[in-house]
Amino acid sequence: MGWFSRKNKPNKAKNSPVDIKKEVWSKCPQCGEIIWKKNLIEVDYVCTSCGYHFRLNFAEKLRFFTDENSFSEIFPDISCLDPLDFKDSLPYKKRIQKAISKTSQKSAFICGSALINGISVAIGFLNFEFMGGSLGSAEGEKIARLIEHAIENKLPLIIVSSSGGARMQESIYSLMQMAKTSAMLAQLEKEGLPYISVLLDPTTGGVTASFAMLGDINIAEPNALVGFAGARVIQQTIKQELPEGFQKSEFLMEHGMVDAIVKRKDFKDTLFKILGYVDGN
Ligand SMILES: [Zn+2]
Repeated sequence: MGWFSRKNKPNKAKNSPVDIKKEVWSKCPQCGEIIWKKNLIEVDYVCTSCGYHFRLNFAEKLRFFTDENSFSEIFPDISCLDPLDFKDSLPYKKRIQKAISKTSQKSAFICGSALINGISVAIGFLNFEFMGGSLGSAEGEKIARLIEHAIENKLPLIIVSSSGGARMQESIYSLMQMAKTSAMLAQLEKEGLPYISVLLDPTTGGVTASFAMLGDINIAEPNALVGFAGARVIQQTIKQELPEGFQKSEFLMEHGMVDAIVKRKDFKDTLFKILGYVDGN
């Protein structure tokens, strides 16, 4: 029969037309619009049809937040450990290795000093591409050291979060990072240094429940998902319909959890303005 004698489809070679299409076009996850990638860069990775904010990789974040070539990384060698020898469908050690090869970074938190329109800051980024930007002991240690760096050098602190929350593979070790980072932020406050927290889509779980919501000023990008537990879990627990826009940055702003919603192209100028106010200028 002709049906059974059909040859198997050849394996997709690298750079097959399908791959090339993926490299050239992006599909908006919210409205399905197909956008030419080159155009996407020009519009700051925001869908022109529905306003969806595509997730940014680390290099793009640097471009939006800091002056060109001003970022100087500190503590790049602190990497994730596996204190519980944890295995789920894959050993945690393997997951770490995969994340390192995917991102060329040793943890989900990258930090250093940089300039924002000429102002020196201590700045760190949780990188969603590395295990969902989750908070493990390496990330917590780097955040704590970044805060120490800010205190020693009398710099304002900025943390840009994008995270699924505490890293379950490290269990209590990751939960302890919530207390550790919060305690360090209290030290920063004692020194009278400002902390601005920036919430990108998504910022959830233990990260929202600790340092991400402890900014002297919390700013979020439009339509970002920011919350602790997932909406479905909350709905099932309280057995009530949740209001429209629940856990979106606009909803949080209306309810006093977020101080400002800022478009991507305005991140740097807004931070510059805030830093000017808090510095008493
Ligand atoms: Zn869209």
